[in-house]
Amino acid sequence: MARPLNEIKTYRLDQLEYLVKDLGQPKFRAKQIYEWFHVKHASSYDEMTNLPLVLRAQLAEECPLASSHIADKRISSDGTRKYIVEFADGQRAETVGLPSENNDASKQRLTVCFSTQVGCPMGCAFCATGREGFKRNLTASEIVDQILTVEKDFSQRVTNAVAMGQGEPFLNYDETLKALRIMNEKEGLNIGARHITVSTCGIIEGIERFAKEPEQFTLAVSLHSAIQTKRDDLMPKVANQPLDQLKPALESYIRKTNRRVTFEYLLIRDVNDGPDDLKALLRFCEGLLCHVNLLPVNTVEGSQFKPSKKHVSEIWLKEFEKRHIEATFRKSRGADISGACGQLKNEMEQGK
Ligand code: SF4
Repeated sequence: MARPLNEIKTYRLDQLEYLVKDLGQPKFRAKQIYEWFHVKHASSYDEMTNLPLVLRAQLAEECPLASSHIADKRISSDGTRKYIVEFADGQRAETVGLPSENNDASKQRLTVCFSTQVGCPMGCAFCATGREGFKRNLTASEIVDQILTVEKDFSQRVTNAVAMGQGEPFLNYDETLKALRIMNEKEGLNIGARHITVSTCGIIEGIERFAKEPEQFTLAVSLHSAIQTKRDDLMPKVANQPLDQLKPALESYIRKTNRRVTFEYLLIRDVNDGPDDLKALLRFCEGLLCHVNLLPVNTVEGSQFKPSKKHVSEIWLKEFEKRHIEATFRKSRGADISGACGQLKNEMEQGK
């Protein structure tokens, strides 16, 4: 009986060795297949020209493939590329490729912001994806396909990967983790574990599981407010994971892993950028090994949210510095190509 669609792309080298052995082929064929998928970005067995025809036919029958493809691509003036990746069943998700702005070739990075779900059940008030609702989880191979798509399109090695596209990764925990491990494999994409980040809305059970993973993957938490009532309005689906439970979960994560947590905080004018908001955020960060990433909210059509005035981030950064809390203000990239999560896909679906 044929194996599930695309499952072969998630096999480690040792699993491929079993497979080729079963098919009566020598062990070295496993390495060749692995490289075709993860180094040479092949999407069909026909491309695997160093495999005998008979093996290609066997693989096509036993391990069916259906490739994902780019349904739309936009390139920003700052080099950011935003893709709509379409999967075998016609469902689509957004992926973003962010090249570093560094001219030194040895320090050039290519970061991929990938999706873990089609749509998202979290319904965050500021997010275009949240409005779309949830369609389905992505499989590990569909998640990895997004990395391969960007690597191929840029003709450049992906150095960093962030699960910060569409979806809540901890609601698709197993497939996300499987994908992270494929990204991290030395023989394949070889992205260092510390350069692979999972960004969550603060799903406590996910944080607890993630703390137990042996790899040094990194964790980011979308905070957006450290005032409970305000956070509930902005992120209604995590209202049942309150800040007074989130903080101890993060303390425990930091104790176990000895790794820093990044807080993502979208600065939204007159919503979460006042003195009380800053005070609450500083209090939440107290005693945590953390980095605060302030970001301007993207202006999305039909949304009442506007980015904070420039001086706000300057004041906030000074306050963080005084308290020795690491913080940065990251300007929005790709704003000219519908930079906000879900925005391009929504526009595409409306035929813009
Ligand atoms: Fe989902 Fe992230 Fe959008 Fe929230 S911000 S609705 S978690 S995609």
